Amino acid sequence: MTSKEYMEQGDQYLLHTYNRFKIVLEKGDGVSLYDVDGKRYLDFAAGIAVFAFGYNNKEYNDAIKAQVDKLIHTSNLYYNVPAVEAAKKVCETTGLDRVFFTNSGTEAIEGALKLAKKYAYNRDGVADHEIIAMEHSFHGRSIGALSVTGNAHYQDPFKPLVSGIRFAKFNDLESVKAQITPKTCAIILETVQGEGGIYPADPEFLEGVRKLCDEHDIVMILDEIQCGMGRTGNMLAYEEYGIKPDVVTVAKALGCGIPVGAFVANEKVGNAMVPGDHGTTYGGNPLACAAVCEVFRLFETTDILTHVKETAKYLEAQLNSLVDKYDFITARRGKGLMQGLVVTKPVGEIVSKAIGNGLLIISAGSDVLRFVPPLIITKEDIDEMMSLLTKTLDSFQ
Ligand SMILES: *Cc1c(COP(=O)(O)O)cnc(C)c1O
Repeated sequence: MTSKEYMEQGDQYLLHTYNRFKIVLEKGDGVSLYDVDGKRYLDFAAGIAVFAFGYNNKEYNDAIKAQVDKLIHTSNLYYNVPAVEAAKKVCETTGLDRVFFTNSGTEAIEGALKLAKKYAYNRDGVADHEIIAMEHSFHGRSIGALSVTGNAHYQDPFKPLVSGIRFAKFNDLESVKAQITPKTCAIILETVQGEGGIYPADPEFLEGVRKLCDEHDIVMILDEIQCGMGRTGNMLAYEEYGIKPDVVTVAKALGCGIPVGAFVANEKVGNAMVPGDHGTTYGGNPLACAAVCEVFRLFETTDILTHVKETAKYLEAQLNSLVDKYDFITARRGKGLMQGLVVTKPVGEIVSKAIGNGLLIISAGSDVLRFVPPLIITKEDIDEMMSLLTKTLDSFQ
């Protein structure tokens, strides 16, 4: 079939929840993707911050193939080798104690919210607790995760959502304080807001939230589904802030393409859940966890975090030069290889044009160009990105 035919068939049979860009991707290699016509794209989206080690990574592919031949699935009624190994890695890396594997980021959020509620229920002997979430946050599309996602456009058609959710302003500690009541059981926030427009938390804000949670015995949930797993130059973005959440959620780069997420809790909070409180058929299956183990092995053997820190400095400098050069680019924000450029021209049109020029970038919020490339990108890749992007931006002058 031609790409046009694939797109027609896709539009006929796929539910129309996305306005997809007009390309049909077929294969990938390193930081390049290829469509069915053989056209190459430089990928600064990484499947939305997923493919940290690039496409067609031989070691990663071999690890998955080996697991396919051994055991793909067993359910959580039994132990399996990759899940046990992956659990140890996740706990050691996050500095937390107990992990529950899920199939997606959204499900990791669901689990984290349930865990906080159960913790408060055990403590107080009653349910009906409240959760504080942030404006402009993004935590997923299921009813629970959507309930803590501070985006009216995403929420409104699906109301009523979960009750007892109060919204505060990100990076505004007083607004968080104002939402605390005796019923508050959790505060959930992203260490770096992704979907909402690439806003890193201010250190004083994150420290302040940590302190409030300690003072009121509130469960602090950090959503690092996008900013975690090396993206900011640390394994977890919160490391740089010198604080630790009670619960962290990870997904996206956790499996680098095999769908898997996790919520991870400290012992105090994690022990609130007992057999029967939560479950999943697929979550943490041997195939997904073999991917997780291989991802951690790649982090351990490649010194990628140093690479991310170095390349990020270069990327920041290049993006800053665009703020100086174009009137319609007003700011750069971000941490590590999670960067955004604020634009005053239609962001969707810029992304489309860039794709036409062979560069995959994505948007965040209503006015941000988002750069979340594979962590293995080099300075040469950044130079190529800059030339494709400049060509794109010039056409909007
Ligand atoms: C992507 C994302 C989610 C949802 O993850 P899915 O795997 O799409 O369900 C939740 N929180 C953040 C911060 C994300 O970036």
